[in-house]
Amino acid sequence: MSKQWDEREKSLENEYFHRKEQELILKLRAQRAEKENAAASIMHCPKCDGTLVMHTFEDVQIDRCNKCTGIWLDPLELELLVLKRQQNDGWVLRLWKHITGE
Ligand SMILES: [Zn+2]
Repeated sequence: MSKQWDEREKSLENEYFHRKEQELILKLRAQRAEKENAAASIMHCPKCDGTLVMHTFEDVQIDRCNKCTGIWLDPLELELLVLKRQQNDGWVLRLWKHITGE
């Protein structure tokens, strides 16, 4: 396989990821708007009696419990996170720093 072919394949792959990511972001925005319209925005942790605090990081919305520190993701958010992970290995680490302030 020639070097040129490698690069062409790589750019097609990047284009695919980018398009997929944009699709997911649009879906998530619509979903979020629905959530915000729903009554009582306070969400309770499914695991304990804590309250979920929303963090938005690079278009992914993450709910973190203020008591047990559990992190909750919607299926679409998880999908976007996995997609970002495929593109950039540092994402999860950056997210962790963002949330914990470490
Ligand atoms: Zn909790």
